[in-house]
Amino acid sequence: MPTTARTRADACPGVVSPHLAADGALARVRLPGGVITGPALRAVAALAESAGDGSVHLTSRGNLQLRGLDPADPRPVRTLRAAGLLPSTTHERVRNVLASPLSGISGGLADVRGLAAVLDRGLCARPGLARLSGRFLFALDDGRGDVAAERPDLCWRATGRDEGELFVAGDRTGLRRAPADAPALLLDAAQAFLAVCGDAWRAGDLDDAAARIVALLGATDGRPSRDSTADRASRDGAGADQHATLAGEPAVGELGGGAVGVAPELGELSGVALRELAGTAPELVVTPWRTLVLPAPAPGALGRLRAAGLVVDPGHPALRVSACAGAPGCAKSLADVRADARMLIRHGVGRPVHVVGCARRCGAPHTPHVDAVATGAGDYQIDGAPGALTAPSPDRPRSTR
Ligand code: SF4
Repeated sequence: MPTTARTRADACPGVVSPHLAADGALARVRLPGGVITGPALRAVAALAESAGDGSVHLTSRGNLQLRGLDPADPRPVRTLRAAGLLPSTTHERVRNVLASPLSGISGGLADVRGLAAVLDRGLCARPGLARLSGRFLFALDDGRGDVAAERPDLCWRATGRDEGELFVAGDRTGLRRAPADAPALLLDAAQAFLAVCGDAWRAGDLDDAAARIVALLGATDGRPSRDSTADRASRDGAGADQHATLAGEPAVGELGGGAVGVAPELGELSGVALRELAGTAPELVVTPWRTLVLPAPAPGALGRLRAAGLVVDPGHPALRVSACAGAPGCAKSLADVRADARMLIRHGVGRPVHVVGCARRCGAPHTPHVDAVATGAGDYQIDGAPGALTAPSPDRPRSTR
């Protein structure tokens, strides 16, 4: 695999170092494991309304984004730190940790709840790991394969209730640990990656990443370095569960185990929706599929959340349409793609569609979808052929590159 050189500064936005977009500063708030408390969500909502564009935006890595901020305004850093959402200034960009959102609630082989927080604390406690790129992604998969499908650099994936295996850029390593030891294994593997990465941003950019990382880890702990019988096909079947959420599939409504799932249209949460969410559950989980899981919602939550504008019905067309920021927020965009995507939702759509303002295709899902790239106001390339978004009947769903 060709190596992608890390030849420029890391531009991934955080809170301390926001991205300057056409509509103001954009701050990304990392939520390891997607977990956020009701009070913290309320603080983010108040900040968005007083200092941003009024909304909170969900990302494809289970994080939150605020847009339209004044880059000189000290309130975002102050408010988010006070809410416990900015525990480290040095490591904020690298706190990228996914965990199976329904783990311990329904489905899955193991319970990974709490492990993302342990991993996050360990990450922030190792100064050298601040050198990881903001694109580097950890994942703790409870065996159902949901977050393993999000292309993490390092993934611990359960193979049973009491054991799981380390994967590097999707490749098996044969290194197995109990769930409680998974965070330390992932952190050791990240340190090993930094020792061999050279100019590579991500493990997938590095030739033989799994073998090189395992060789370093094997030298320090003496464990077997490689499972020579493993293959990708068996890995992809491992841990399959009839109750599993399909990777990348938005799950809303009753999710089992008392949990409910909801989705904001185009991943954009209004102040009304945020306050209702914060008042409905003590803790929430933001998923990488721009939905939220409420593990222990108050009685009657779904009705109230529907009234607040959130999608709670599994057949709703909004679950099949996603879009990048587009114009006017992004200067590169050739169209107001979010307005076009909203129109698409109103018309109804059969296949998942991702609508973007340019060929960068930001935020594209890792699952089959129709690719709609703006070429001008109202004009799109639909899976590579000229077309109009008003007639969304493309025949060829595609995966992102
Ligand atoms: S896909 Fe293009 S237009 Fe959309 S947010 Fe990314 S850079 Fe901007």
